[in-house]
Amino acid sequence: MTAAPVAATTSDTRFGTLDDRIVGELQWLVGPEYVLTAEGDLEAYSRDATPLFRARPDCVVLPETTEQVAAILSLATAHRIPVIPRGAGSNLAAATLAEHGGIVLALSRMRRIREVAPDELLAVVEPGVTTAALDSAANAHGLFYAPDPGSKTVSTVGGNVAMCAGGLRGLKYGVTRNYVLGLEVVLPTGEVIRTGGRLWKDVAGYDLTRLLTGSEGTLGVITEITVALMPMPATSRTGVAYFDTLADASTAVAAIIADGVVPATLEFLDQRCIAAVDDFAQLGLDRKAGALLLFGDDGGEQTAAASLGRMAETCAANRAREVTLARDVAEADALLYARRCSLPALARLGPITMLEDATVPRPRLAQMVDTISSIAERHGVLCATFGHAGDGNLHPTVVLDPSVDGAVEAAHATFDEVFAAALSLGGTITGEHGVGAAKRAWLSARLGEDQLALLRRIKTAFDPAGILNPGKLGS
Ligand SMILES: Cc1cc2nc3c(=O)[nH]c(=O)nc-3n(C[C@H](O)[C@H](O)[C@H](O)COP(=O)(O)OP(=O)(O)OC[C@H]3O[C@@H](n4cnc5c(N)ncnc54)[C@H](O)[C@@H]3O)c2cc1C
Repeated sequence: MTAAPVAATTSDTRFGTLDDRIVGELQWLVGPEYVLTAEGDLEAYSRDATPLFRARPDCVVLPETTEQVAAILSLATAHRIPVIPRGAGSNLAAATLAEHGGIVLALSRMRRIREVAPDELLAVVEPGVTTAALDSAANAHGLFYAPDPGSKTVSTVGGNVAMCAGGLRGLKYGVTRNYVLGLEVVLPTGEVIRTGGRLWKDVAGYDLTRLLTGSEGTLGVITEITVALMPMPATSRTGVAYFDTLADASTAVAAIIADGVVPATLEFLDQRCIAAVDDFAQLGLDRKAGALLLFGDDGGEQTAAASLGRMAETCAANRAREVTLARDVAEADALLYARRCSLPALARLGPITMLEDATVPRPRLAQMVDTISSIAERHGVLCATFGHAGDGNLHPTVVLDPSVDGAVEAAHATFDEVFAAALSLGGTITGEHGVGAAKRAWLSARLGEDQLALLRRIKTAFDPAGILNPGKLGS
């Protein structure tokens, strides 16, 4: 059921043709140098971080202001030209593919940090600001921006909001939706709306901020974001525990949570990941272990140390073969790097890595990892799993060589079964990476036809001409 790789087509009769006259109008709106139509430029915007998916837009437009975005969208709606908003293109769900041609609207020029307001614990940014740049700006005021996707040095805040990105601190701090206070959004018809704002409490009307967060660029183009910031914790502490099996590690995870600790970090790597990461980063990991559990907490010195000690004890009491606490920031960073470099480490094992995002209720973690292993074995694919143990969010990653007969099909068949297994365990097809084009075939299995139909009605209310990121999120 996994969506097959796609190529652009402009033959869909729902859409108009982007001709020279429209290109001329776009050039007039943003300046000729910000409308890209050369083959090489279009090629660069034909892909995102999702392997095997590719679709060429007709042009790429780089606006600098909300007014320009509004004018572009009005023009596109009038001529029924698809528009695909794009941040850094780091998504893993084929969410920025121009499957029907049209305009890729790259927001990378809108990258001003407009304000950091320590007295209000918030910041106001344009959508093209990177997640890391926002965090650094907050750090300068003794604050931090909590959502921390592994891609934070490249991913944009606009892309994070549109995908409702998660990250390594999700269990304790939540995900992007928990930090979006207000949005300025341009609707496909060109109207500019403001949802929410600077208030921490505001229940006037439907919560459109939440609806737009995670809308994958299908309802509106986000042109300004007001986010909540947090005071920077005085310290953070990290430890690592090795287990013979992932089942043992999962038991320890359950015991840690049951003990009343809500860790800032609770991440796992399976045996294959441990080996790949150790080959890649030479961290001296225990390669004989069946699972590695990274645990950590932050806060005041005493609180963080106490909670780290409790987690270490719980791991030891739950069959950990070894537990080590980082002595200083350098050691802690090295441990966290072991988790952060999992994807590049696995990427060295073959030409293509397909990373997925199935999520299950926490008590089902071990069962799900075992199920993934047996599914992969049955299909003869090389699969390693790492992820956020604290919130049941698994990243099974298949490494393959697409030139080998049947390799791509085997990977798709594996993931189809993985999603089915996640759903049967009460989980979901995506915990944080989104649906995009890659997983739309699975959306009705997760939501049901009635809810999917409601999603489509909401889409029509925002986007009557159906031009904004068509085909994504079931639209
Ligand atoms: C190495 C690596 C690690 C990653 N780690 C994580 C992780 O830990 N957690 C996680 O959740 N994700 C992770 N991701 C996935 C990805 O980085 C996130 O989905 C991120 O939020 C995408 O941001 P972006 O700026 O690249 O958006 P893009 O990929 O450009 O776009 C993503 C979606 O947002 C829409 N969009 C972008 N900007 C706007 C806008 N201004 N208005 C409206 N719609 C918009 C697009 O149309 C598209 O649907 C990782 C990816 C990589 C490659």
